[in-house]
Amino acid sequence: MENVIIIGSGCAGLTAALYTARADLTPLVVTGTMPGGLLTTTTIVENYPGFVEGIDGYALMMNMQKQAERFGARMRSLSRVEAVDLSQRPFAITVDGEVLHTKTLIIATGAGHRHLGIESEHLLENKGVTYCATCDGALPMFRNKPLVVVGGGDSACEEALYLTRFASTVYLVHRRDELRASKIMADRTLAHPKIKPVWNTEVTEILDVAKDVVTGIRLKNNQTGEESVLDCAGVFIAIGLVPSTQLFKDTLDTDEAGYFVLTEGSKTKVPGVFIAGDCADKVYRQAITAAGMGCTAAIDCERFLQEEAHHAPPAAV
Ligand code: NAP
Repeated sequence: MENVIIIGSGCAGLTAALYTARADLTPLVVTGTMPGGLLTTTTIVENYPGFVEGIDGYALMMNMQKQAERFGARMRSLSRVEAVDLSQRPFAITVDGEVLHTKTLIIATGAGHRHLGIESEHLLENKGVTYCATCDGALPMFRNKPLVVVGGGDSACEEALYLTRFASTVYLVHRRDELRASKIMADRTLAHPKIKPVWNTEVTEILDVAKDVVTGIRLKNNQTGEESVLDCAGVFIAIGLVPSTQLFKDTLDTDEAGYFVLTEGSKTKVPGVFIAGDCADKVYRQAITAAGMGCTAAIDCERFLQEEAHHAPPAAV
């Protein structure tokens, strides 16, 4: 029987692991298939406090994991939760076919990449369509070629800036005429000589499914209705995130966009189940806010177990 299982190993999950480990709860972290979460695919993280020169995203997450392990957190690496039964305590969590039992659960499942939702995007995934510049940008197929980034947020800017190392030109295709990204990222992006914004424009098709590789995109200007084709060797889609909450949609409350709805602090309507990070945050979604939510969930969890122990009937002599 586990005291606490933590699902997810991003900033929220690993911070919850650190705090619950330091409270002697020896948490078990089910890392998911991407240990360290989405931040491991980022280059330099410049806005996590404490790192004057910034820190590589992968290094930051591996440090968080080691710090939690130093206090007794255990990682079930590369494992995925397949099912949860929260109808009674202890909760039953099925991990890679094995059923584990736990007194409490911290869900820190984060969010995944949003897709454009057009058929050619799906058919050309990994054939020039990708969701991660740091993972794929250096591939030979993209070198010295025109590349497209879709989106107008911080992620799109970050991807575009990173791709300038490899691309001949980076076209930033955005559906509006101003970026949603933070000012510092937007200014940096628009000032880069290799980045060319394409405003008020939507991707209607990625070419060329018949050739089984990306050769360009078909675009539509949503102000004028004008259609065009832009040649490129890669399409990097950075249009935001979708919360990873599907596994719990029948048991826990989610809003219309799928984000968890919390009752008080990190609590849910199921006593003993706590939530942290981007799976419950559609507003801030920063590494530091996720870490803060991980801390909150761990403290709520620890207090819940303490309270329960306090009210437990004395053991029979
Ligand atoms: P985001 O801020 O939600 O931005 C998504 C962008 O994609 C928006 O510009 C949006 O357009 C566009 N978009 C959404 N759906 C679309 C669709 N179907 N077709 C075309 N365009 C679409 O997402 P994000 O950039 O991934 O950032 C997520 C969070 O992480 C944010 O809070 C961000 O600040 C944070 N983040 C921070 C950093 C950093 O600080 N260095 C780096 C990366 C991410 P509209 O603008 O028209 O809505």
